[in-house]
Formats: sequence, C-alpha cells, structure tokens
Amino acid sequence: MRKYDVAIIGAGPSGIFCARKLQDAGKKVAIFEKSNNIGGRLATRRFKNHVFNIGVNSFQSTVEELNEMVEAGIENETLIRDGVEVKAQDSITSWTKSLVEKIETHRKHHLENIEVGENENILHFRGLESIAAKDVVLAVPAPQAVEILSNSNLEVPALSKATYSSAVFYMVAMDRELEQVREFKVLQHVKKDFDYYLLQFEEDWNEKTKEELREEFDETFRPVESYVHKWRYAKVDKTISSDHQLALKDKGVYLTGDYFFGNDMDASVLASQHILDNVFHIN
Ligand SMILES: Cc1cc2nc3c(=O)[nH]c(=O)nc-3n(C[C@H](O)[C@H](O)[C@H](O)COP(=O)(O)OP(=O)(O)OC[C@H]3O[C@@H](n4cnc5c(N)ncnc54)[C@H](O)[C@@H]3O)c2cc1C
Repeated sequence: MRKYDVAIIGAGPSGIFCARKLQDAGKKVAIFEKSNNIGGRLATRRFKNHVFNIGVNSFQSTVEELNEMVEAGIENETLIRDGVEVKAQDSITSWTKSLVEKIETHRKHHLENIEVGENENILHFRGLESIAAKDVVLAVPAPQAVEILSNSNLEVPALSKATYSSAVFYMVAMDRELEQVREFKVLQHVKKDFDYYLLQFEEDWNEKTKEELREEFDETFRPVESYVHKWRYAKVDKTISSDHQLALKDKGVYLTGDYFFGNDMDASVLASQHILDNVFHIN
C-alpha cells in the first residue's frame, strides 16, 4: 500500500496551496481529486472553437498567501495582471495544472471514507486501491466533507451550518447576436466563427437536471450548439468559525476550504494557512 505523510483531498486552491507548502517543507504529500480536472471551482470548458472559464474567470489577490501562487502563474505566463484583477492568459486550468506540476496528483480519485488508525489513516477511494497517510487534509466543500466524515463514522456538527448558493451556466454558439436574454446575465460574448456567449441563469434551478435545463433554454435561444454546467456549491453564503478546522486533530484529519474565512480565493488559502500554522508549524 502506498504511504504518505499527508494526503490532500481536493485539487481546488485550498488543497493546491496546502500541498505546495507541505511539499516545500519536506513532507511526502499527494493530492487526490475526484474529477478529471485540477482547480476545483477554477474550471475551464472547451466549447466548439472557444474556451470558457466557467468558475473563477478573474480574481483579486489581496493576501500574501495567494500572491505566492499568483506570482508563479505570472512568471510562467499562465496568468496576467489587469489592474487589481488577475486573469488567466487563456484557460484558468493552465495555471492550476502548472501549480501542481511537481506534486504527485491523482485525478479520478473519489475519497469515500477514512479508516482512522492509531498511527496512520487508511483512505478508501471509489473502485481504486486504498492508500495510507499519517495526516489527511479534506480540502473539499463543507457538504462533501460531511459525506466523507459520515461514511467514516466521524462528525463535525458545525459543518452543516456552512451554506452555499448554486449557479447555472449556459454556453451557446449562435449564428446571430442575442437581442434579449431575459432571465440570464451575459458573462462573456466573443465573436469568432460564431457568436459565443457565456450566460448565467439568474433564477433558482429547482432540481431540474442539466439535460432538462438545456432543452428548455435551447427552445428559447435556438443555438448552433449549447452546453449547461451546474455548480451545486458555487458560492459560500454562510461561513463557520476556523476553530472547527481542527475539530478532528486527535485523528489526524483536518478541514480546509473557503467556507471558514469567506467565499473567495483569498479565503481558501487563508484556511489552509490556518492548518499550516497550527498543525504543521509552517508559514
Ligand atoms: C462561478 C464562480 C465564480 C467565482 N468567481 C470568483 C472570483 O471572481 N473571485 C474569487 O476570489 N473567487 C471566486 N469564486 C470562488 C472560488 O472559486 C472559491 O472560493 C474557491 O475555488 C474555493 O476553493 P476550495 O479549494 O476551497 O474549493 P473548490 O475549488 O471547490 O475545490 C474542492 C475540490 O474538491 C474536490 N472533491 C470534492 N469531494 C471530493 C472527494 N470525495 N474526493 C476527492 N476530491 C473531492 C472537488 O472536485 C474540487 O476539485 C467563484 C466561484 C464560482 C463557482
């Protein structure tokens, strides 16, 4: 069985920041990410002849902790500064992929549960081999942490108090310009071989599937091609105290994510720095 000092679950900015710092400090770390993409809510979709950043597109970096990763991106030209905003040169995931270049990273590894042991924890992934790690950092949104913990007979009751709003994005290639978009906000419009639009649906999506929404939207817009993306946990509405990050310290399990400090990139790295300061004594 492969063994690590620290297993980081989730390849969003919280997990990536934590992994970089721990590896620099000499720890044997690996990141395990359930999807096939690196970046979490920093996501890119290639759509016909265009690339849309469908999560974070540009952001402001006001804390030193995040600046470190931003500077790395500016140096390797995956990011550019535009006034106070930081933007992707092309796709935002080019940046996140470059940040984990030197870190052992496993995609399509969905953590189901943790078997807590005295000296090490065993991590079980859906349909894959298990691994052992002394410490485990759960860098996933609060509801997903609740699921992993409950499968592991562990509990941090405060986690369920962190709440999120959802978002629906609709990408379309049109053979004409859109005149009116009613319930949608236009996030991006680019003219190429077609008129490409990234639209955000303003209303609640009330449990409709992606396919149902797409069918409904297509009836209104009649696009050449379309794609719907739903973010179930898009934006943190209610945060919880960072004290809860260390609630399972005696088991070697730690929690991080934007939801302890806010709802943005700054918050996600600040939460990881909190663990680095208080558990690993790295700053
Ligand atoms: C549309 C949109 C626009 C945004 N705009 C901005 C902005 O302009 N500025 C800004 O600062 N912030 C913005 N944000 C917020 C920013 O994206 C988040 O604050 C940040 O991504 C949080 O990082 P995180 O690492 O805590 O979580 P995430 O980015 O959500 O990463 C968590 C990762 O954990 C993985 N995961 C979950 N469960 C498991 C499991 N069981 N096993 C393995 N992996 C798992 C997920 O797949 C994901 O990759 C935006 C978000 C969205 C959705």
